[in-house]
Amino acid sequence: MTAPYTAAALEPEVTAPLIMALPKGRILEQCGEVMARAGIVPTPDYVDENTRHMRFATNDPNLDVVRVRSFDVATFVAFGAAHIGICGSDVLMEFDYSEVYAPLDLRIAKCRVCVAEPAATAGSDDPSRWSRIRVASKYPNITRRHFASRGVQADIVELNGAMELAPSLGLSRVIVDLVDSGRTLKANGLVVTETIAEVSSRLIVNRTALKTQPEAIGALIERFRSALASTQA
Ligand code: ADP
Ligand code: MG
Repeated sequence: MTAPYTAAALEPEVTAPLIMALPKGRILEQCGEVMARAGIVPTPDYVDENTRHMRFATNDPNLDVVRVRSFDVATFVAFGAAHIGICGSDVLMEFDYSEVYAPLDLRIAKCRVCVAEPAATAGSDDPSRWSRIRVASKYPNITRRHFASRGVQADIVELNGAMELAPSLGLSRVIVDLVDSGRTLKANGLVVTETIAEVSSRLIVNRTALKTQPEAIGALIERFRSALASTQA
């Protein structure tokens, strides 16, 4: 006789690991350090930029990680395709997903979202008198909201990189981009004229997943919380 229900059917969470979405690229390494402090170690090819794998097992049999574009981390978590993730607060500001809960500031990958323009024209006219302005950015929503709050209509030229080229080539008057040291701006003849927001990376969680699996996901959040506390001391 076969049992009417298998253990897997009764407890799907036992067989389906939680999925954590992590950004590839610039902050992959810093994320790896935070993960390690939380005791989570993905298979070694996670740090291999050349691997074609996108999903990796970890030392925790109940947790797999997926490696995606930084903007896409928020999307995977918002739609519940990943239960948990790490992404920049810039990305959270841009998308403003109500399904994403950001319980922890991991205090890594710190930078700022700024308005910058050519040093030659900076301060040459009063921005509060503009009625519209052309802005190159990969953050259309942040940019639109920022300028709208002072009554200026931003016409956005959406770029995915090399924003710094836009003003000198006549694509836009100003740019909205991330700034850390300011060296890239300087090398391209630009200066920061305003800081819109301070940025750092956050642990993010899908709200519905947290409600349906409070123990497993709550325990994961706690691992990151204590990893952070131990580095503060
Ligand atoms: P992508 O190339 O996928 O657009 P990046 O790897 O450049 O993304 O950036 C990913 C995240 O890293 C950003 O969303 C931001 O939170 C953070 N970040 C980007 N640039 C910097 C920087 N110069 N200093 C610190 N953190 C940064
Ligand atoms: Mg980049």
